[in-house]
Amino acid sequence: MGVHSYNELKAHIGHNVVIVAYGDPDDPANVAVECEDCGCVLFDYDRPEDGLVDPQAELLEAGLIADDHIYKPASEAGLVLDGSKGAWDAHSSLMAANQARLDEIDARAKTRGDILARVVNEPFADGYAVYQVHEIRDSQARIVRCIGLGDDWAIPYWGDEAWVELGFIRKKLEHQDNLKALFSRHRENQDSA
Ligand SMILES: [Zn+2]
Repeated sequence: MGVHSYNELKAHIGHNVVIVAYGDPDDPANVAVECEDCGCVLFDYDRPEDGLVDPQAELLEAGLIADDHIYKPASEAGLVLDGSKGAWDAHSSLMAANQARLDEIDARAKTRGDILARVVNEPFADGYAVYQVHEIRDSQARIVRCIGLGDDWAIPYWGDEAWVELGFIRKKLEHQDNLKALFSRHRENQDSA
């Protein structure tokens, strides 16, 4: 159901298109753009559940999405890496704070069972490139490079952002989460030994 391409939408040119509300007219549970002539839904949205956090808004609030959707460090203004220990320490603690914030947002998304806002680490060079899921459409996820974390690698074929298969991200997150669980169990065993 619905249109997903230029050609599919083009097929409805000249038809009577209406916006229809479903449920309580004052607070509909769903709104749809429908073609009356064909009797089909072109596209529709459900009302967000009360109390449900909008991950996009959360990212914006947390400063993890800028207007250009590239995550930037909290602020490096006035911070000049002049080789002094003070400047380096300030830089390091900024990177650590950014990482902690990103970890927290990733953990919250994981708790909700969301893929949106989750963070994937892609091995590169001697470390990782860090990307965050900013948008999901059908079976594709838009991932955006996170910077301000240290090495700030970019995967050459992804660049600052890319659309990738959602299935790829799912598998990757599953693998990451399993590894994390394994490490934390290992730590608990060591702690209790
Ligand atoms: Zn139509």
